[in-house]
Amino acid sequence: MSFAPLLDNLPLQKSQLIHRFADLVSPKSDAEFEELAQQAHALSLRNFGRTMRLFAPLYLSNECINNCQYCGFSRDNAILRVTLSLEQVVAEGRHLAQEGFRQILLVAGEHPKFVSQNYLADCVRALVPDFSSISIEVGPMETADYIPIVQAGAEGLVVYQETYDRETYAELHTSGPKRDFNWRLDCAERGYEAGFRRLGIGALFGLSRWQEEALSLAAHVEYLLKHCWQAQITVSLPRLRPAAGEFHPAFSMTDRELAQLICAFRISFPEVGIVLSTRERAELRDALAPLGVTMMSAGSHTEPGGYTGQGSDDLHRTLRGKIVAPEFENGEDRLATGQFEISDERSPAEVAAVLRRRGFEPVWKDWDAGLVPS
Ligand code: SF4
Repeated sequence: MSFAPLLDNLPLQKSQLIHRFADLVSPKSDAEFEELAQQAHALSLRNFGRTMRLFAPLYLSNECINNCQYCGFSRDNAILRVTLSLEQVVAEGRHLAQEGFRQILLVAGEHPKFVSQNYLADCVRALVPDFSSISIEVGPMETADYIPIVQAGAEGLVVYQETYDRETYAELHTSGPKRDFNWRLDCAERGYEAGFRRLGIGALFGLSRWQEEALSLAAHVEYLLKHCWQAQITVSLPRLRPAAGEFHPAFSMTDRELAQLICAFRISFPEVGIVLSTRERAELRDALAPLGVTMMSAGSHTEPGGYTGQGSDDLHRTLRGKIVAPEFENGEDRLATGQFEISDERSPAEVAAVLRRRGFEPVWKDWDAGLVPS
């Protein structure tokens, strides 16, 4: 079974739920929008209480064999790259654990030579003592390759389709294995088969018309809820941010449209987790939180070694995939290049304090465990 035929048929055949979702993302008056916001807020309270899970991304490597036009890590970008050693990963992890995090997302570009399944399993094993929840966001793999990573202690798999529009996908992914749209589309199910119990999907808003992208993403959520029913599904709605390569998004999505989309997901899928990253600016994140967001990253760095400077002695630059000596330009930081710029630069403690002031309980540990009184 695959979501692909359903996606391709979506313009002609939609479930009742997706019909309702389409109405929720259609243009709304101020009064209608206010009503959606209230409904979404009430559903969030009913299903998640006043909790907000906090997590941090830990970038392991910015090596990549793909060229994705919107991404700073693209193979042909002449950026400073590094893959952290196990000891360096542990040092980054310790820093995050000291800041209070117990949930992390391990992120890496797609490069089987540097980011193998053995390397990932070793990283997870080394981090398990400090973290109650470890997820990975790396290049798609076969089910068999995921199994050792799950056995090492990872419980979550995150893979964004980026865009569900096949033509746009083909235009933006110009070389590398990521060009295979269906291989990526079926990744969540392969991860589920391997034993991941949290599955995160998403689209990158700005690549195509947001309403159509949202409809496809909602249909994918509906499909996964049916076919991977033992997993907790989360959805991410990132908007494009500036990155190396200076890609300019062809489509925009306003703050209000993002808020409407969060409401639409919360109302249509009351039990699905909604993730909001530091791509969005602080005031907007604070305003969006009550509408249905259940997980927020905080204090994020998008470069390997970004928290503690690990790996700065091992940097190299690449020119069209070829490694060259890292000559530093005047004033250039001796840090690997980040994937994209973040907007909310507050520390994790500041984010937690603001959440508390607004009536949320920041949950640093696993969400379920956080509900059990100690
Ligand atoms: S989006 Fe992912 S696969 Fe594409 S260049 Fe960036 S890190 Fe590599």
